[in-house]
Amino acid sequence: MDFEPTYTPEQEEFRQDVREWLAENVSPDIAHPPDSINITEEQYQLRRGLGRKLGEKGWLWATAPEEYGGGGLSLDHAVVIEEEVDSYGLTIPPYYDSGGRLGGASIMVWGTDEQKQTFLPPIFRGQVRTWQLLTEPEAGSDLANAKMSADRDGDEYVINGQKIYVGSSLGCDYMWTITCTDNEAPRHQNLGWFMIPADLPGITIQPMELLISGGESGAGSGVKNTVFFDNVRVPAFNLIGGENEGWKVATTHLELEHGTGGRIGRNWLVDHLFEYCRENQRNGQPLTKDPDVRDKLIDIYVEAEIARLFNLRNYWMRHSKAEITYEGPQASYWRKMSGLRMSQSILDILGPSALTFDPQWGAAEGHMEAHQRSAIVAIHPGGTADIQKLIMARRIGIGREVREKAGALA
Ligand SMILES: Cc1cc2nc3c(=O)[nH]c(=O)nc-3n(C[C@H](O)[C@H](O)[C@H](O)COP(=O)(O)OP(=O)(O)OC[C@H]3O[C@@H](n4cnc5c(N)ncnc54)[C@H](O)[C@@H]3O)c2cc1C
Repeated sequence: MDFEPTYTPEQEEFRQDVREWLAENVSPDIAHPPDSINITEEQYQLRRGLGRKLGEKGWLWATAPEEYGGGGLSLDHAVVIEEEVDSYGLTIPPYYDSGGRLGGASIMVWGTDEQKQTFLPPIFRGQVRTWQLLTEPEAGSDLANAKMSADRDGDEYVINGQKIYVGSSLGCDYMWTITCTDNEAPRHQNLGWFMIPADLPGITIQPMELLISGGESGAGSGVKNTVFFDNVRVPAFNLIGGENEGWKVATTHLELEHGTGGRIGRNWLVDHLFEYCRENQRNGQPLTKDPDVRDKLIDIYVEAEIARLFNLRNYWMRHSKAEITYEGPQASYWRKMSGLRMSQSILDILGPSALTFDPQWGAAEGHMEAHQRSAIVAIHPGGTADIQKLIMARRIGIGREVREKAGALA
């Protein structure tokens, strides 16, 4: 069985157009720092600029409807755009925009037409960057325990509480967040989601001093924050899906975050590693000539290829509206655990030079050191590895008497 996709002549023709456009529009000054914590304002703005150009072209959200600012294109087109952007080591969007990706997709399902007309075009055209704010000190894996309160007062809600481990370096324009809209109501019947302008009075963002890596791409989130809401007044119009109806919105958001909304790109770390092992010597010969190194490199290659193929399958299932069951958490679980296995193999190959970003001793300009940290960190965001297993069990019928259904997607 051949797992690789084949392309139609129309797709190949479109690919040429995309290549030409990207050659003209991707700035050669866009850098790829090993750790996105180090992304500068200038680099961030270069990526935002590219996002806006992609948005104008309809290639930022290629499959989203044109009436809401998307490209109105087919899955065939979207795959080609993703692949070509990936060949520059970039993602779509080319910057961290978790609230746009997940909030936008959730509004597509649960927003009113007026809400879609208001909130989606700026996201789909790359005009705003949005964070997702879910986690609280007592609501991580157990998201339904969210306690940040939203109390109705006339045409507004007044929001009070705290979110942790959220956001990125360099701020955002909007915050997509889950709150408790009735602290007397039963679990799952007491929640509400809001799209909140980040500059409202009463919002304080406090960076967290953590030893985390934001991942080895400039599109990673970088620093994480605690965000405090102190009597923040939000128009009732910004409540998406209805008061106390937030859990159904959460099932869409979480479906995508738990591996169904992943990307289809290559693993750039593996490319960096292979290049490093070809170009650097041990005992007078390239590392790739050492049989033990080759053995580990093949293990790494297999891990990365399986992850890529899971993501490709999920991307196709999502955008072709195929019935989804366990596939999202399966891909997410694989990515998290294979990241750990890969980091061990990289350590076996490179020894201490995998543990430093010192220019003299560190391997591959610090990309390997960043991966040693980010592989451990990656077990947590978007649901922990344990939670992915739990959802898979519920979906395949070994964790619940009635198999759990996937969240609704547009
Ligand atoms: C780098 C990073 C980025 C993040 N980005 C964001 C973000 O942008 N927005 C956001 O809202 N949050 C974000 N988070 C928070 C993340 O979603 C939570 O850390 C995660 O959901 C786990 O929650 P917790 O940390 O409270 O751990 P807990 O839920 O307290 O879990 C602790 C441990 O118990 C295990 N566990 C919990 N429940 C079960 C169960 N039912 N069965 C088996 N094991 C279980 C977990 O697997 C874990 O090992 C981020 C976290 C990190 C580390």
